[in-house]
Amino acid sequence: MVLDNWLNQRLEKTKEAGLYRKFRTMNTAPLPEMVIDGRKQIVFSANNYLGLANDERLIYAAETVLHEFGVGSSGSRLTTGHTDWHQKLEEKIARFKRTQAALLFSSGFLANVGVLSSLPEKGDVILSDQYNHASIIDGCRLSKADTVVYNHIDMKDLEEKLKEALSYNRRFIVTDGVYSMDGTIAPLDQIMGLAKQYDAYVIVDDAHATGVLGERGGGTSEYFGVHPDVVIGTLSKAVGTEGGFVAGSTALIDFLLNHARTFIFQTAMPPSICAASYAALEIIEESKEKRQLLFSNIKKVKNSLIEMGYTVKGDLTPIIPVIIGDSQDAVRFAERLQENGIYAPAIRPPTVPNGESRIRLTVNSDHSSEQINYLLECFHSIGKELNMI
Ligand SMILES: *Cc1c(COP(=O)(O)O)cnc(C)c1O
Repeated sequence: MVLDNWLNQRLEKTKEAGLYRKFRTMNTAPLPEMVIDGRKQIVFSANNYLGLANDERLIYAAETVLHEFGVGSSGSRLTTGHTDWHQKLEEKIARFKRTQAALLFSSGFLANVGVLSSLPEKGDVILSDQYNHASIIDGCRLSKADTVVYNHIDMKDLEEKLKEALSYNRRFIVTDGVYSMDGTIAPLDQIMGLAKQYDAYVIVDDAHATGVLGERGGGTSEYFGVHPDVVIGTLSKAVGTEGGFVAGSTALIDFLLNHARTFIFQTAMPPSICAASYAALEIIEESKEKRQLLFSNIKKVKNSLIEMGYTVKGDLTPIIPVIIGDSQDAVRFAERLQENGIYAPAIRPPTVPNGESRIRLTVNSDHSSEQINYLLECFHSIGKELNMI
């Protein structure tokens, strides 16, 4: 009871700060149109960029292996959890990312924490972009190396901090490939150049870029034609399933298998999910069509909103942040969207800087032109109604 009193006091503070979170229940499979809390909504906030999460071919692949291998994997990869399907998927990821080898983790979060807590040592330094994902921040916290934060995609600042870091044994630069709140693409070509100049290693977390950027959907490395030392990714966004991975040299993978605690002490992914992920990567590699549909939707939404007079941040990625400014206005805007059957959240400080509250839209390849047009109509009418355009 004493614990609850204290927790409730703390929750009150969370509420006062406007940071209280709660569930919304999805009553249907992940599709562009869903029933949420009992109401039909067109969803413009999912990470399922290629519509694969509910794809028949993935469901079939998972189902077949599910009957053969059962539901759980029964152990960590180094005990009883390793199957042919884990190996097949790792080989597939390595081919997809054009690296020597790959290693599965149970999530992208655990992959980031595993790499950052094991690779850099005491006496090393990690240079981390200001807007990096929470799992990168936590990985840095667990590392024995020092962490230095540089301003978001600010290459001048990164260079200065690299210069200041020359006395460390080793330098690691860690960056998201595509930034989840801003839709910006990290300038990986420039980062690789600086890394070469100042003798640093590059770790890129390609969670939002895998399956999306590059001719084959290979991610930020393919987009820039570069080869970072460590590529981290997730299967839970465009790939449409679950799990994380690291791709890189054979030595890197062997090292992580022996030293990354979030790999060693974690139950292996279910083989059925490996099979579904394998099927997803085949689809991603073989068909450009879904990516073309995705990018035509992205361009349509982005250009139309800019024409209407909105400030839209970011590069050409599925993440489209529409800047509203004031927090209350952004919340009001999101409510009006929801009343009109559109589900897209308001993002406020401290997740984003003061005065940059926004509606964070994501589009995917399965949104129909009717759904896209309806979204744009709503942005037009709500923007006028709230005097924003
Ligand atoms: C979503 C995300 C992760 C976490 O991946 P999960 O597989 O969901 O754990 C890590 N990094 C970035 C940049 C992400 O957007």
